[in-house]
Amino acid sequence: MKKHNFYAGPSILPQYTIEKSIEGIKEFAGTGLSILEISHRSKEFVACMNDTIALFKELLDIPAGYHVLFLGGGASMQFCMVPMNLMEKKSAYLNTGEWAGKALKEAKLLGNAVEVASSKEQLFNYIPKNYTIPDDADYFHITTNNTIYGTEIKKDMDVKIPLVADMSSDIFSRPVDISKYALIYGGAQKNLAPAGVTFVIVKEDVLGKVSRPLPSMLDYRVHIKGESMFNTPPVFAIFAAQQTLKWLKELGGVGAIQKKNIEKAAILYNEIDRNKLFKPTISDPEDRSLMNICWVMSDNYKELEKPFSDFAKSNGMLGIEGHRSVGGFRASTYNAMPRESVEALVGVMKEFESKN
Ligand SMILES: *Cc1c(COP(=O)(O)O)cnc(C)c1O
Repeated sequence: MKKHNFYAGPSILPQYTIEKSIEGIKEFAGTGLSILEISHRSKEFVACMNDTIALFKELLDIPAGYHVLFLGGGASMQFCMVPMNLMEKKSAYLNTGEWAGKALKEAKLLGNAVEVASSKEQLFNYIPKNYTIPDDADYFHITTNNTIYGTEIKKDMDVKIPLVADMSSDIFSRPVDISKYALIYGGAQKNLAPAGVTFVIVKEDVLGKVSRPLPSMLDYRVHIKGESMFNTPPVFAIFAAQQTLKWLKELGGVGAIQKKNIEKAAILYNEIDRNKLFKPTISDPEDRSLMNICWVMSDNYKELEKPFSDFAKSNGMLGIEGHRSVGGFRASTYNAMPRESVEALVGVMKEFESKN
């Protein structure tokens, strides 16, 4: 039976990426060696790195003055690297979920990191709207897509201080006005590549303003100077990211994929809204994520949660259980998720409704 991969991360990749990765594992760029065993300093891998950065810049329309870095450590490492590199005394955070809260926690270790607003009291089921960002903070940190709770900030904000965004789970899902951000980071394992590589897009002129000494590995300037090869980069994950970016370019880029993402999400949200067994956890359509779609059983059908979960699994729907902190269901509909898989899930939801 066909399996449909709705896991939140690591998650579905384009079939193109999988196939090219298999080829690259067998033989990389005519070298007679596997991508798994080649030197990161070989001219073939340096070319792969440069092409991946070029595609990254092209697809996101990254203006001059920004650098793209590929690092280790995951988005979680960025939770401390960002304040280390950008916060002299004070920073501001919007608390929209578990990852946002973790980012704030790390920043607090290094200075006066303030929470400007939080939706925690309502289990993060909305994006806070009216809040004041302190002018004297060195940056404002947001998490554009809240992978666990299924909310998303889909518009680029205008703020007066440097804007920093964790885009782990919505990078490349829509066009982004990069010029509005000082720094964007994310783990690649949601929408780009297998686990192991972290991307950072950083504006050169926000760096070098803090007085604390920075360990080399935690200093963005060291990685800029080393062109992401200060130490051994995650070679295979970068190669796989290059394949995903080629696939995305061929498909028409982020504008084209955004259209598909909007269509896919609408198909599933419409069914959650319509089906008597289910209800959405995020009510405001403006806040609903296009990448992670969350729902629970309706009040009268709570006892059907486990039976639906089993029924969905037996029909090839993998990874739709909600995060352990929220329960219910979550279908991740990243770029690589075909519309047919979303339609298949909706079919299963309808069939289960007709049986109950
Ligand atoms: C998955 C995720 C993270 C954590 O990423 P790691 O690479 O595992 O550190 C952080 N932020 C968001 C929004 C995520 O979805």
